[in-house]
Amino acid sequence: MKICILSRNPNLYSTSKLVDACKERGHDVEVIDPLLCYMVIASHRPTIHYKGRELDDFDAVIPRIGASITFYGTAVVRQFEMMGVFCVNESVAISRSRDKLRSLQLLARKGVGLPVTGFAHSTKFTGDLISQVGGAPLVVKLLEGTQGVGVVLAETQNAAESVIEAFRGLKQNILVQEFVKEANSCDIRCFVVGERVIAAMMRKGKAGDFRSNLHRGGSVLTVRLTPEERSTAVRAAKIMGLNVAGVDILRSNHGPVVMEVNSSPGLEGIETATEIDVAGKMIQWIEKNCASGTTRTRGKG
Ligand code: ADP
Ligand code: MG
Repeated sequence: MKICILSRNPNLYSTSKLVDACKERGHDVEVIDPLLCYMVIASHRPTIHYKGRELDDFDAVIPRIGASITFYGTAVVRQFEMMGVFCVNESVAISRSRDKLRSLQLLARKGVGLPVTGFAHSTKFTGDLISQVGGAPLVVKLLEGTQGVGVVLAETQNAAESVIEAFRGLKQNILVQEFVKEANSCDIRCFVVGERVIAAMMRKGKAGDFRSNLHRGGSVLTVRLTPEERSTAVRAAKIMGLNVAGVDILRSNHGPVVMEVNSSPGLEGIETATEIDVAGKMIQWIEKNCASGTTRTRGKG
């Protein structure tokens, strides 16, 4: 097969591991920077070009679209879909996963366990919104934050109100969420490929930080998933429409709750922690499932 990895940086651990996995399994592989792609949008013959050359012979695309380039990156993925090229994660699914509110609404609709979450545009009734999600302490999040930046624990009602006002003053969309204290600064990253959790790890926030993100200094522990956690992760990925996803779960008093679903989950942390060849498993899955013209949306929506 000829596989395209859409990534801005071939030197990233995840990108280079995927390249190695493709080569090991006998595939041709190329890393393409989505921001350097340009597209011609004409009816019946959509094309993508890169450094003066038309990209018309890939069998599969692995999108690794960073949060900062979601808009253009998903347009490139959509163009591949319109050309009938198999994309591991479809553009619509990537866009959904980037919007925390939209993701939570989709998951809630299908009955997936979630932390109680509130959202408002106006700050006029912040006090009521806070009590609707159970009062302080609570977590305030930027809607499009990532790597733990813009995630704040407000211990008191007053603190919560001022954080919300400050974020709103900066014209940022935010959500407020029940603080799952019993998770004890830990969350579980489930790496889903197709219909299976192929690897999982527990992350624990550094002392004094409730955020478990590795980028915020969190550390990794091994974990044994319960069957309920496994099925929750697989369902969440499926509802989002993602074939490859990092589903983050908190262990709450009322069972596993999904915090977010990532469409370009990193490989370094999970491969190091579990010694599982996650990249290899992704490529194996592509070999089994890749077929031209089978993307569900073909660039629609
Ligand atoms: P980001 O997209 O920036 O990673 P998250 O929503 O994943 O934002 O939050 C970052 C971290 O903060 C999580 O990994 C988790 O450890 C902690 N956290 C987030 N929301 C809650 C919550 N409602 N209750 C307890 N801990 C939370
Ligand atoms: Mg996170």
